[in-house]
Amino acid sequence: MGFCSIIRDMKINTLSDYLKKTYGCKVYKLSLQSGCTCPNRDGTVGSGGCTFCSEGGSGDFAAFFLTRDEYGNSITIEENIDMQIESAKEKVSSKLKGQDHKYIAYFQSFTNTYGDPSVLKRIFERALLHTEIVALSIGTRPDCLPDSILSMLEELRNIYKKEIWIELGLQTINEESARHLRRGYELPVFEDAYRRLKEKKFIVIVHVILGLPGESVDDMLSTVKYLAGLSPSLDGIKLQLLHVLKGTDLAKEYEETGFHIFSLEEYCDVIVRCLKLLPENIVVHRITGDGPKRLLIAPLWSANKKNVLNTINKAIRDA
Ligand code: SF4
Repeated sequence: MGFCSIIRDMKINTLSDYLKKTYGCKVYKLSLQSGCTCPNRDGTVGSGGCTFCSEGGSGDFAAFFLTRDEYGNSITIEENIDMQIESAKEKVSSKLKGQDHKYIAYFQSFTNTYGDPSVLKRIFERALLHTEIVALSIGTRPDCLPDSILSMLEELRNIYKKEIWIELGLQTINEESARHLRRGYELPVFEDAYRRLKEKKFIVIVHVILGLPGESVDDMLSTVKYLAGLSPSLDGIKLQLLHVLKGTDLAKEYEETGFHIFSLEEYCDVIVRCLKLLPENIVVHRITGDGPKRLLIAPLWSANKKNVLNTINKAIRDA
């Protein structure tokens, strides 16, 4: 289920519109793992990770990165990626209903450019070799995008002529909240990575979390306004509702302080205000969260995604 693409006369450029226009059919994401960890968890930048980050490294739906098959034999990176792709296709197969479709290889969990460029090249190249995969989407941090990685990705893009999306978890431009959530880098690091990515003409998508403890609605709108005004223009944005998940430091903070959690009505209001700030060319990839129900502590209303999207759609129509 998607979301409404009109606020009065303003057109929202939704991801499904973009994919249909670009590829002429439905395009499904295959959640894959590159096997990378994260410098904010392994002690390089920090060891606790971002306070909201779950055991799955903010990618709880991805397949597993295996180094052995079911009989205990070691498997190559290429075999591993093929196996993950097959298993991820199986997971989305019930949605296909015989319609024409393609896939995006989505490396979501942890920091997927935090590794040896030659190993990462084998991983990404294997995914790109699959003809039905039309694009790569790589979730990472701006402090893990050295020129060696950008050159490797540029080379792959030139060879395979497929889109490469880089997804950056910025969450907020407010330095105080960024420190509070232990993001582990400051805004100029994002700005430098963004500039270098755009110089090489990568498609950049930025994640924003709405509802961080201590942030006012004005703080959230400032982040979206900043992203809307980036030059060169941002390609895509994910607006994500803050989820409090079991086992995270955010869950401890929630238990100790009981910080404010949006009601569905409050969230709808914020989403509409954010969407109004975005120019038409920025593709809106997400307007809700995507946390696993088995880990969800709050807000519990977010578990009913159908109801959330219906209510947001209504708020958009009424705006
Ligand atoms: S950067 Fe991503 S993977 Fe690393 S701790 Fe933060 S949310 Fe988790």
